[in-house]
Amino acid sequence: MLKIRKEIYEEMINHCINSLPYEACGILAGREKVSYIYKIRNIEPSSVSYFMDPLEQLRAMKEIREKNIDMIAIYHSHPWGNAYPSQKDRELATYEVYYLIIAIEPKIEVKAFVIKDNKVQEIDLKIEQDDY
Ligand SMILES: [Zn+2]
Repeated sequence: MLKIRKEIYEEMINHCINSLPYEACGILAGREKVSYIYKIRNIEPSSVSYFMDPLEQLRAMKEIREKNIDMIAIYHSHPWGNAYPSQKDRELATYEVYYLIIAIEPKIEVKAFVIKDNKVQEIDLKIEQDDY
C-alpha cells in the first residue's frame, strides 16, 4: 500500500491540472508515507508522453539523499487518457519505485502501480490527513 499526505496529493493533482494540455511529472518522497513532492519539468511536452528534465531529477534525488528520505514514487499525468501505464510507460519504468498515474479529463483518477519487466500490478493508495 502506498500512503500519501493529503496536501501532497492535492499539490500533485494541481500540478497536473496546471500543466494541461501537457503531461506533468515529478517525484514523491518520504519515509513511510509520501511527505515531499518534487515537481520536475517535462522536457518533452506532449499530451501522451513525458521526459523528466535530467538536471532537475538529479537535484531532487540529491536532496532526497541529503534529507535521508526515500524516493517512493514517480508520478505523471495522462491529460485525456486512462490512469493506466502506456506501453512506453512500462518500457521506461526502470526505477524500483511506485508509479502513479493521474488521469485528468474527463474525470480525475489516480492509480498507483508496480511496474516490473513490462508487467503492471495495481497497488492500493491511501490518502492520509496530517497527524501533527
Ligand atoms: Zn503515461
